[in-house]
Amino acid sequence: MSRHRLTVVISQAAGKHPVKRALEEALVAALIMESGLDVSVIPSLYDLSPDHTGRLFLESVHGDMVVLSWLFPRAAFWLLDRDGIKGHLGETLLKPAADDDDDDGEPEAPRGIGAVDVPERHIYCIDLRDAATHDPFIDEVRRIAAECRTRREEKDRAASKPMMVELGTSLTANGTNGTNGVIGEHAATMPTFTAEQLLQAPGRRWYPVIDYSRCTNCMECIDFCLFGVYGVDGLERIAVENQDNCKRGCPACSRVCPEQAIMFPDYKTPAIAGAPVGAIGSLKIDLTRLFGGEAKDAVAQAVAERDRELVADGRDAVGMSVGIAKRQADKPQGPKDDLDNLMDALDSMDL
Ligand code: SF4
Ligand code: SF4
Repeated sequence: MSRHRLTVVISQAAGKHPVKRALEEALVAALIMESGLDVSVIPSLYDLSPDHTGRLFLESVHGDMVVLSWLFPRAAFWLLDRDGIKGHLGETLLKPAADDDDDDGEPEAPRGIGAVDVPERHIYCIDLRDAATHDPFIDEVRRIAAECRTRREEKDRAASKPMMVELGTSLTANGTNGTNGVIGEHAATMPTFTAEQLLQAPGRRWYPVIDYSRCTNCMECIDFCLFGVYGVDGLERIAVENQDNCKRGCPACSRVCPEQAIMFPDYKTPAIAGAPVGAIGSLKIDLTRLFGGEAKDAVAQAVAERDRELVADGRDAVGMSVGIAKRQADKPQGPKDDLDNLMDALDSMDL
């Protein structure tokens, strides 16, 4: 029997929301009683700077990993990928409770450029908003642990290698105090971090996260952003090059991306924060926006947001004159955006 262990990371909510903290603590208390898990708690993933201990810890994990956070799974997964914490997307079966009349349909097939240099391990991202108590999360982590174990055993069998018996101490409540995950099979090879180091409060951050399963490398975002946030990597792929140049609270470029590939995980509107993309789901979000008073054309709204930030920087507003010509030119032939879908739906409803 293999004794590989699964790393489980709880990414805390930013701030000190008592209900969220209580769920996080209940989860830790339950998870550390499970065998075969290495449990860690870090501050909010989104806020971790490159030198934060929580980020260094994540980078040091090389096996399968479950990350429970207060972010949409799509946002958490691509945020990790952007930080070099890569893996194959592990599918979680824990979903938000569906409304009776809710039918988001099948998720769209990814048609983006995808991730590069993905190692042979899986990362499962779970949204802590998907259940109100800790039990469903514990059940899902158990299921994932079994899935990872089966996958490893099959791989070992296929390679005709004897399964490794790994040495290490068991994770216990006493051993971890509920916060230190560097115990168990990884102890000999991973750097050790104290709970205090892992939980050092980071400053709040704000930057776009690209979903490469959707991004087609069209470069509209780099044309649109006038603050030097975007660049291209060595493979000529779009990249968020200077994260902290982004203007706090502004999601402008997510509105001009034709693929809904740009996410701001802390933004209030789910479509921008990384909610699953689906035709009907997007429509419902847009209806909310419409009746909530956000019915402007997405591009016009993005331009207004960009102008506001330019003026705040002491620069001139540019309106529609910079960085959107390509989108406007392509629009009649390109895929319908959310507003188009919304207007079509309203037409069909004969309102
Ligand atoms: S606009 Fe969207 S699809 Fe185009 S390169 Fe930027 S992130 Fe990718
Ligand atoms: S939100 Fe504004 S500043 Fe930030 S990346 Fe997008 S366009 Fe640039």
